[in-house]
Amino acid sequence: MLTKLKVNTTKHTQMLDITDKVQKAVSDSGVKDGICTVFIPHTTAAVTINENADPDVVRDFTTEIDKIVPWEDGYYHFEGNSAAHLKSSMIGFSEQIIIDEGRLVLGTWQGIYFCEYDGPRNRKVYVMVMGE
Ligand code: ZN
Repeated sequence: MLTKLKVNTTKHTQMLDITDKVQKAVSDSGVKDGICTVFIPHTTAAVTINENADPDVVRDFTTEIDKIVPWEDGYYHFEGNSAAHLKSSMIGFSEQIIIDEGRLVLGTWQGIYFCEYDGPRNRKVYVMVMGE
């Protein structure tokens, strides 16, 4: 079962916790045991799994990735957003999460984050749930 989620970002660089939205897609599918794939159909956004307990982790993550890939660095790409393209590929466009008894198998401190690198924009997230 494929679910298309809408995510509206409000900042240029932002990490949004989408765990509840992905879990709802899994619950709505009725699948009890299987695999959930989260895919980002954009070239300047990404998805990752990381800590959702201390918000400073997200703050550090976004601050440090901006240092690793600065917005201005003599890039050639005419659109002016090469940094966002680079960060998206570094973080990645998909995650796979195991489903056990209808629940996403995530560690106690893990959440699924939509990563915006060229916002604010209206984005899509594809969630494919497979199993039985
Ligand atoms: Zn571009």
